[in-house]
Amino acid sequence: KAKRQGRNTWQWYRDREVASIKDSVLLRHDLHTALHEEQFELYYQPLVETTSGRVCGVEALVRWHHPSRGLISPYEFISLAERTGQIIPLGRWVLRQACLEMARFRTQEERILPVAVNISSLQFHRDGFLDEVRRILEETGLPPNQLELEVTESVFLDGASQVIDMMETLKAIGVRVAIDDFGTGFSSLSYLRDLPTHKVKLDRSFISDTLSDHRSAAIVQGVITMAHHMEMMVVAEGIETEAQQQDMVRRHCDLLQGYRFARPMPLAELRSLPERLPAKGFGHSL
Ligand code: C2E
Ligand code: MG
Ligand code: MG
Ligand code: MG
Repeated sequence: KAKRQGRNTWQWYRDREVASIKDSVLLRHDLHTALHEEQFELYYQPLVETTSGRVCGVEALVRWHHPSRGLISPYEFISLAERTGQIIPLGRWVLRQACLEMARFRTQEERILPVAVNISSLQFHRDGFLDEVRRILEETGLPPNQLELEVTESVFLDGASQVIDMMETLKAIGVRVAIDDFGTGFSSLSYLRDLPTHKVKLDRSFISDTLSDHRSAAIVQGVITMAHHMEMMVVAEGIETEAQQQDMVRRHCDLLQGYRFARPMPLAELRSLPERLPAKGFGHSL
């Protein structure tokens, strides 16, 4: 009986594996079509200043309106697109679209709202990436200082010195680079020392743990203190509750991002976003 059960389990795993391979083959094919049929859309999530609630920028987050599966999360298709190489055309589309939309937003709304765009390591390391950034800025008319690129620690795996050079070049153009999901990768502290960056984004996994786990809290506080000594700003991502917000206020984290303030929204909704979010426990008076 045990043997039969064993085989069933094996069969189950095999079926699942076949299903998931079929799935990714289908998705891969769909991804190709999606790029041509404009099934992607950018949503924007505000970042607010901890002390004032002032909206000081937005992060562009890609959404896929799949014709039969509905809205698919980037968690599901970004890594697939990275494996198939399709992240290159997709990433280019995202960068151009974000610059185009925010350049228009700037003139139509007469409002300056810097935009952060996620850049996959593969895309960052591809030859000609810097030229692509320059060209897109030129063509869309977005001032370089209103664009920020978000890269994760994984970019350093492919050559830290090259990354530092590229970041210096970007800085010279006026484009800033932030380190995303900070603390989840394997990069050493010396990278942080050598990087011409001005901002680190603490990963959501730390934020949700600081209230219950004193080790997470120590890491968060350590990163904030260290970053401030290096004249860098810290963003806490994934703030959902008032308690988390208060905790970050107390720790002097500079910027906050999370469902508590605003979910990622389509461009049209961004137009009615206030300059400052209504009082929700901002400031150090708490
Ligand atoms: P990320 O860059 O760390 O972006 C933050 C993610 O956390 C977003 O998920 C955002 O919607 C979500 N989030 C924000 N606030 C909260 C909160 O309070 N609670 C919770 N539970 N989640 C929150 P999203 O949009 O699903 O994107 C997931 C990831 O996919 C991003 O993580 C980023 O790594 C990647 N991604 C998204 N768009 C792009 C893109 O255009 N290019 C590349 N290369 N990657 C992208
Ligand atoms: Mg990001
Ligand atoms: Mg992030
Ligand atoms: Mg994250």
